[in-house]
This record gives sequence, structure tokens and C-alpha cells, in this order.
Amino acid sequence: MNKFPLVVISLICFFQPVCAEKILITEIVQSRDRGYDYLDISTSDYIKAKAVLLEDQLIINFPEAALAKNLQISSVSSKRIKGISVRQTKNQAQVIITLKKDSDYDIVNVFGRNKSVIEISDRLDYTAKLMAAWEKDNLKKIGQQLKPYKYEPVTLGKRLYLLNKIVVLDPGHGGNDPGSFSKNGIPEKVLTLQTARKIAQLLRSAGATVYLTRNEDRRSNLKDIADFANRNRADIFISIHYNSTYRDDISGTETYYYNAISRGFARCLHQNLIGGLEEKDRGLRRVMFYTVNHTEMPSALIEPLYLSNERGAKEAESPAFQQKVAEAVLKGVVEYFRSKQR
Ligand SMILES: [Zn+2]
Repeated sequence: MNKFPLVVISLICFFQPVCAEKILITEIVQSRDRGYDYLDISTSDYIKAKAVLLEDQLIINFPEAALAKNLQISSVSSKRIKGISVRQTKNQAQVIITLKKDSDYDIVNVFGRNKSVIEISDRLDYTAKLMAAWEKDNLKKIGQQLKPYKYEPVTLGKRLYLLNKIVVLDPGHGGNDPGSFSKNGIPEKVLTLQTARKIAQLLRSAGATVYLTRNEDRRSNLKDIADFANRNRADIFISIHYNSTYRDDISGTETYYYNAISRGFARCLHQNLIGGLEEKDRGLRRVMFYTVNHTEMPSALIEPLYLSNERGAKEAESPAFQQKVAEAVLKGVVEYFRSKQR
């Protein structure tokens, strides 16, 4: 066969900024080994796939890629995976894994073998139990009168995407309730307030009116916090926490919501936190925490990372990381309000 045309095509691709030839997803093979589930996704060239876990769907995004016409999917029965499907969008190809239960995952894009390998394992989880116990304990205590700090909208020369929007931010814990402690001994209540102030600053620069449930070291009970958001007719409510567990090998980002009206909002936040922080994705989850269940507007509780391991503690204490959280939240909030306009 004459190889000449192929060379010409390669050269055209090489010299053009955007090559019209898209990378193809050619084969998906599911397998099981030593208590794990695997998905080997073959592609026509090396591609950096990224994943996000949204409730029971693990979505693998292949930017600028396309599904091959003769794409083969072979699956085996599994106690974790309910089904595998694919979707082509304008900018990317997606492989969607529907899970039967709460799972963790890892993704490795194997250079040289043009393959992305997804490993799925059972989730070791203590968060929901710990948080539920904490809420039960805290709801009994009488909180102080809420005198929230109000941030007025100001123009900082950027586009005011959030003009006329009211946001209530709830820095978790405070006062005699420190929350958890970082590996370095800093209480969660300090980190949540620092992060909330950075989020407030950014939302405010985009035109939003932002109320904080506290702007000092003080605790309020959860009922007062939810009432406050309702009374102020907030458009959205975000509770800010940092996560912790007694195991130091657990790390990553989790986002919680409870009501159906909060689902889309929590998704926007979670996707942007995963994209912006590049922490391990521990999933968007539906759990009945008091505040997100008793607020009448779309509400979410974020846990950007775990303080209980050394790296997480160091990150959470750094202003640069907190700023990244704030930027991801801003993106998520703007994206949410945009999606509602459509
Ligand atoms: Zn907390």
C-alpha cells in the first residue's frame, strides 16, 4: 500500500493548530480482579480522560474525542456496576458507569498504550455517620441570636453575573463547637470561616448580596441557621465544612444535598470543585443533614477535603487552596444560575 497519503495527512495535522481528526474511543472492556471492578477504555491515541462521580453515575469525560462507529462494549456481571453506556456531546465523548452502590474509583490514563483504566472499589465511609451524630448532638443546644454579617454588593469591574442574587453562606461550626481538628491541630471552625470569607468576597465581586451566618468565632444552632436563610429569602444556601475521619488514608472532595430542588445546584458545585481542586472525587451524595433539609432554597454542603491526613491539613490551611475553593464555588454558582435561564 502506498503510504504517501497518510504522511500528507499527518503533516497537515501537525502544522494546523486544531487537527480535525478526533481521537476515537474504540473499545470498552469490563473485568473483575481481586475484589475490584475494572474498565479498560481503549482510544486511538493518548488522551487524558477525567472522571466525576455524580450520585450513582461515574462519568468519564474524554475531551475533544468521539465514539468510534464500531465501538465494542463487553461487560460482565458485577455487584458494583449496573450498566455502561456512552454519550457523544459537542465537545467530548463520555462513558457513563451506573453504580449499584456507593463506590470509590481511580482513573489511570496509560501513556503509550492509549488506554484509560478505571478501577472501582467499595467505599470505606464514616462521614455520614459522624455528621449525623454531630447534628443530633448540636440541635439540642440553644444557639446564640443570629446577627449575621452582611456583605453589600459592590462592582469590581467584572461582569455582574450574580446581580440581584441573595446568597447565604454558612461557615460550619464556631464558638464552643470546634468541628474536627486538622492533623496540625487547627480547628475546622477556623478554616470554614476563612474559606467562607473568600467565597463571599468573590460572589460579592460578581454582584451577589452575600450573608454569612457568622463572621466571628461563635456558634448558632442549626435550626436558627436554616430559619435565617429562609427569612432572608436566599436564592441559594451553601454550608462550608472540612471533612475528617480516624483513617489517614482517606482523602478527597464530597458534596451533599438533600431536597430535589437542590440536586442541580449541588451538581454544579461538585463538578466545579472536582475540576478546580483536583482532589480525589468522593462523590456527590444525598444525605439528610439538618440545614440542607430545612432550607427552602437550593442548598448544598461542601467538604472540599479531609483534614485528617497530613497533606489535606496543609492544603486546607493554605490561603491559596482556600482561594481555589472560592473560585470553584463562584464558577459553580454562576453556572447554576445560567443553566436556570436556559
Ligand atoms: Zn464540619
